[in-house]
Amino acid sequence: MTGRLIVLTGPSGVGKGTLLKALLERHPELYLSTSATTRLPRAGEVDGVHYYFYTRDRFEATIAAGALLEWAEFAGNYYGTPIEPVQAQIDQGNSVILEIELAGARQVAKIFPTAVRIFILPPDLVTLEARIRERGTDSAEAISCRLEQATVEIAAQNEFDYRIVNDDFEVALAELDRLVI
Ligand code: 5GP
Repeated sequence: MTGRLIVLTGPSGVGKGTLLKALLERHPELYLSTSATTRLPRAGEVDGVHYYFYTRDRFEATIAAGALLEWAEFAGNYYGTPIEPVQAQIDQGNSVILEIELAGARQVAKIFPTAVRIFILPPDLVTLEARIRERGTDSAEAISCRLEQATVEIAAQNEFDYRIVNDDFEVALAELDRLVI
């Protein structure tokens, strides 16, 4: 028996993290992959829980070792999925969720053509910008970089198997629930 690989993508600030948290409360059997990144931890983020926080040197060595399923540079930092735990969970028959950006989602589509790829959309760009600013954790430069990237990602939404608009949270969560189970 092999588990399913589910990819969740969507612009920064769209609420992927909050949706996933609620989804995992409903379905503790799902395994959410913990990514590695060179971004600095935000307040409250714990190494090994939210991310594995790596130096650039360590991240590059991990790429060279072939230990990442996919990786990308986003807003000036590296992000990537350690392959080993994902493979182990899939082999055990558990479904795995990757919460990753567009370039990574494209790599996964090539390596794992059976992966289910879901794109989360904001109701509109004004709402997205407000959500990123309200989070209050990013510098002005990082915010504009993330907004620019959001436009690029939204333009690629049709590459995905499914799209969910995160306007009403409960409706979006119900749609996600239906797709992953
Ligand atoms: P944040 O810095 O807001 O936590 O994440 C920035 C972006 O990186 C988000 O779009 C998030 O989905 C993406 N991301 C997080 N982990 C990974 C990963 O392992 N690989 C890729 N390609 N993107 C990731």
